[in-house]
Amino acid sequence: MSRSTMALRPNALSIDVEDYFQVSALAPYIPRSSWDSIPCRVERNLDVILGLLEQSGNKATFFTLGWIAERHPQAIRKIVRAGHELASHGFGHERASDLDRERFSADIRKAKAILEDLSGNEIKGYRAPSFSIGLNNQWAFDCIAEAGYRYSSSIYPIRHDHYGIPDAPRFTYEVRPGLMEIPVTTSRVLSTNLPAGGGGYFRFLPYGLSRWLIRRVNRLDRQPAIFYMHPWEVDPDQPRVHGVNAKTRFRHYVNLRRTVPRLRQLLADFRWDRVDHVFLPQT
Ligand SMILES: [Zn+2]
Repeated sequence: MSRSTMALRPNALSIDVEDYFQVSALAPYIPRSSWDSIPCRVERNLDVILGLLEQSGNKATFFTLGWIAERHPQAIRKIVRAGHELASHGFGHERASDLDRERFSADIRKAKAILEDLSGNEIKGYRAPSFSIGLNNQWAFDCIAEAGYRYSSSIYPIRHDHYGIPDAPRFTYEVRPGLMEIPVTTSRVLSTNLPAGGGGYFRFLPYGLSRWLIRRVNRLDRQPAIFYMHPWEVDPDQPRVHGVNAKTRFRHYVNLRRTVPRLRQLLADFRWDRVDHVFLPQT
């Protein structure tokens, strides 16, 4: 690690802990009722990520589904024991935009209770499945604050066909009293917000572009970045879901074999820490 990298504030790395068959884009092809009969690969994939974090001396935040935590308590305890932050991705990976206030509230409260019981720690962070908080369901932030979360990372301020509010604030702001929204990182180039915080873009675009965009945010905006990925992205051998349309197939499967070497590079090129440590005022 170079001296200049050492001097920089860390960025925040986040992992959305769900299995490949729970991804929103694949939902039309895999009924929720079949989830329990599909072999989970999430533990193995978490082990890969935890190993890379340990080798590189970095920490991260794991936004975890209550559904996964109930079935894989040992994997969740492993995350906590290694000093990472456990946070919530809701219980059943239903998009906030598909739920009413009452059902959304019940989902995020259930997940928080399960994760707190399991870890013995306060769960401070929440991320909506598929960044599904938009202009039409801002009431979701009232529910998140009322459930006792202290931050949300549920908005990707980009233009995308499934999610995103392209003109939302790019950096952390208080969205409700006591609740911070920490948007996934974008870099502003030629009046457009480019995705700099991961997702399929990390696999699709050349690695050097991801690095350039994150450095740009650190140096030009003088802000830490928040980057996200999923355990299934380090699993090139995951079973293929048949019948999916070409766009979804491309987005889900492109360059899966490159994720681990790229992640290793990303962990070496920047310092990474938990979202709460990077973005919340420390008491
Ligand atoms: Zn998700």
